[in-house]
Amino acid sequence: MELPESEKRSLNFIESIIEEDLVENKNDSRVHLRFPPEPNGYLHIGLAKSICLNFGLANEYNGVCILRFDDTNPEKEDVEYVDSIKEDIVWLGFNWEGEPHFASDYFEQLYDWAVQLIKNNKAYVDEQPQELISEQRGVPTRPGTESPFRNRPVEESLDLFKRMKEGEFETGAMILRSKIDMSSPNMHMRDPIMYRILHQEHHRTGNKWCIYPMYDWAHGQSDFIEGITHSICTLEFEVHRPLYDWALDQINDGDYRPRQIEFARLNLSYTVMSKRKIIELVQNNVVRGWDDPRMPTISGFRRRGYTPESIRNFADRIGIAKRNNVIDVSLLEFSVREHLNQIAPRAMAVINPVKLIITNYPEGQVEELELSNNQNDPEAGKRLVPFTREVYIERDDFMEDPPKKFFRLGPGREVRLVGAYIIKYEDYKKDANGVVTEIYCTYDPDSKSGGSGAKRKVKGTIHWVSADKAIDAEVRLYDRLFLDEDPAGHKDKNFKEFLNPDSLKILDNCKLEPSLANAKPGDKFQFPRLGYFCIDPDSSNDKLVINRTVPLRDSWAKKK
Ligand code: ATP
Ligand code: MG
Repeated sequence: MELPESEKRSLNFIESIIEEDLVENKNDSRVHLRFPPEPNGYLHIGLAKSICLNFGLANEYNGVCILRFDDTNPEKEDVEYVDSIKEDIVWLGFNWEGEPHFASDYFEQLYDWAVQLIKNNKAYVDEQPQELISEQRGVPTRPGTESPFRNRPVEESLDLFKRMKEGEFETGAMILRSKIDMSSPNMHMRDPIMYRILHQEHHRTGNKWCIYPMYDWAHGQSDFIEGITHSICTLEFEVHRPLYDWALDQINDGDYRPRQIEFARLNLSYTVMSKRKIIELVQNNVVRGWDDPRMPTISGFRRRGYTPESIRNFADRIGIAKRNNVIDVSLLEFSVREHLNQIAPRAMAVINPVKLIITNYPEGQVEELELSNNQNDPEAGKRLVPFTREVYIERDDFMEDPPKKFFRLGPGREVRLVGAYIIKYEDYKKDANGVVTEIYCTYDPDSKSGGSGAKRKVKGTIHWVSADKAIDAEVRLYDRLFLDEDPAGHKDKNFKEFLNPDSLKILDNCKLEPSLANAKPGDKFQFPRLGYFCIDPDSSNDKLVINRTVPLRDSWAKKK
């Protein structure tokens, strides 16, 4: 269907490339993409951007997108990560074509191609120590030093490479290098490493291999094996592109050829976005796990109550850039609010309760008030909320000596209880420590919401929960995990120095309206005036545990 001119957005640069390729009938006009995570951690929001981009383009151009695990580094990889990555992609709303692929499935083929390279005098075994090899690489402005093994006989390299594979040598004893150009201004072209020895069990191939291919030898070749047409990655790989192309030149004879395209990675303010740093937070118990609701991981956001739609909308909104930039985390929160506002049913909760007694309301009487589940969505229906003589209200909705502009409860004040009656302050009681323990009011029986009395207006409306019927809950309030906009951006300081000591606040005496008794982990609600909330899997039969997903308004914008 053609969009009207006004609703068309202009193509991003990757779409332009794909459309040109389609016009030129490149690669038989296939659009074949991949999302290639390394299974060395849980997915973070940056990777979600890459997922939305690759799977989104496949949908847009009637192509396919596969899932490939880039599992060439067994020291850091694990099946736990493979499983979590699959779960997160599905949760985000995408399906990969066919079964997941693994770079490790290609180890045999990659080995055979490496042997071919040696035979073609394009690769050699180097026995020098690692540090010396790095030193000889030199600096971009001056040519590096060639290894004394660079011109050893092909037969010798073939023999050594085979014995490397057979496990004859120690980890790190020698490497296979490509023979390219030791004076290239691009350091990646100075005889880069293709294979290293690593006596380390792999989560899929077990102990079959003790040599493992490097990223640059595995990635483009995997693309080639799978028939990928556009290999989209982040900008730091731009300098690898000549090597990507060189590696393909060594094995490619037909017309088909994958093309590497780089885009700017997502950076979010007040967040760290590298798996290495995120793993550190988990391992040092800074957070409660990968899915801690403060984490920038997909599983953390899920537990916190973000929806897949809100993350996809966010990814759309920020677009695709060619230059690195930082996105304000409040834009993500905006997308979350925007979606939850449409879908989250309303319910009443008091998170810091104080008891309020309506002295002229009959003891033992229960009125079932009909409240709408979502004012913006009549389809969401209504529910019954019990009203009784004793209710809980928020402690900070009452002041003993309120200033003029305080439109809530206090001496001489009247307020409306949401969906119920107007009440008038009468008295209160304090304990020995000066803490208010009970507030006494009277109600106006003619002021019931929705009835004829509803016409009478008072300045303030506060929320409440019946004290007799309330159910108990623990509520977890979150704030940003870091106090600095760019916690990882300080040369002389570790990012953990910027952790927010108040990023988690637990309130364990919260009161909820009884309709929440059957709420299940993952259910989402708007609690009026408090924000959007999501039931946590830590909930038990006795006690609900609830995460605040996001407050109703951006409180950080105010602070700034
Ligand atoms: P990290 O730097 O967090 O360790 P990575 O690049 O090592 O990430 P991979 O699992 O190798 O993580 O990345 C999978 C894909 O996601 C790659 O194509 C990579 O370019 C892309 N990607 C990684 N980080 C981001 C990001 N912040 N924004 C967008 N895409 C990203
Ligand atoms: Mg990586």
